[in-house]
Amino acid sequence: MARLYLCKIMKNAARNIRHLVLTDIEAYLLTIGEKKFRAKQVYDWLWLKPVRSFNEMTNLSKELRQKLTEDFTLPALKIDHTQHSEDGTFKLRFKTHDGHFVEGVLIPTASGRYTACVSSQIGCSLSCRFCATGYMDRKRNLDFDEIYDEVVLLNDVCEKEYGKKLSNIVYMGMGEPLLNYKNVLRSIERITSPEGLAMSPKRITVSTAGVAKMIRQLGDDKVKFKLALSLHAANDQKRHGIMPINETNDIQSLIDALNYFYKQTKNEITFEYILFKNLNDSLTDADELIKIYRQVPADLVNLIEYNPIDAATFEKPEEDKVEAFMYYLGKHRVNARLRRSRGKDIDAACGQLANKEEHSA
Ligand code: SF4
Repeated sequence: MARLYLCKIMKNAARNIRHLVLTDIEAYLLTIGEKKFRAKQVYDWLWLKPVRSFNEMTNLSKELRQKLTEDFTLPALKIDHTQHSEDGTFKLRFKTHDGHFVEGVLIPTASGRYTACVSSQIGCSLSCRFCATGYMDRKRNLDFDEIYDEVVLLNDVCEKEYGKKLSNIVYMGMGEPLLNYKNVLRSIERITSPEGLAMSPKRITVSTAGVAKMIRQLGDDKVKFKLALSLHAANDQKRHGIMPINETNDIQSLIDALNYFYKQTKNEITFEYILFKNLNDSLTDADELIKIYRQVPADLVNLIEYNPIDAATFEKPEEDKVEAFMYYLGKHRVNARLRRSRGKDIDAACGQLANKEEHSA
């Protein structure tokens, strides 16, 4: 039996060790003559105090570390570049084992929140017109352990720079999280696990450009984290123009899917709405937004200041229009909040992540 198990594990030879569960590691260690309790030590090095190589697992013998190196890989993300904004935001560029780059952002706020914004894909296939990542090709999905690494590395920076742990995580970086569904859910499972970062799922928000089928799937999976919809335009014609995904997932299909999600999870939804000058910033647009808000169990509309990118010609609305929009929503009892983007001087603000330095190199 043990030999059979060894065969199965050895099929995993030179495979990612973080794709094994604890019992797999126990079985592997037994077959190479090691004690079962070592598996927990290895597991802790992989998830609780994550290391970047087997050699850093200092409570294991040299021989065991060598054996693990021969039989498995540990393709952890590494920090390739760090930028620090004058407003306290950090942008980290991570390098994957196969030479790609993704970005994650640490956003401290005056209210004492420390939010990590993480990427879920390398590039993105959805081509939203206002987003720098949308102008890159999608290279591949990030694995769940790579997404977990982003969070751990951002948490390390947070502890070092601010003496605090991350308080919130948002999946709003590069990529569409619901098109990398399994890895996103597995990463959250790990982040919320006591064998990971033990963070409450209520502090995690997954933001989608609107994949109706997968929003329903989240409902079926009865997830406990929060869901945000990047609406950005409140009628189909305008939304088609800035988010091509709307052609196959129109606003009505999203309203239906969000209601289903709420019915299954009882989690209220947040709308994200970037204000663009002369496109979606009039009071007629506000009226359309209010109509959608009334049809969905939503708790919040986040109005976001647009951050210009080189590839697009959208502009930021005038301040008085932003104020009028906000005032109008408030008057109609919509819980709206204006989110001033942070980290603009280092291209870390919403919609600006695109490995700019890599492209210009
Ligand atoms: S906004 Fe999100 S979904 Fe749209 S292109 Fe950018 S990363 Fe992709």
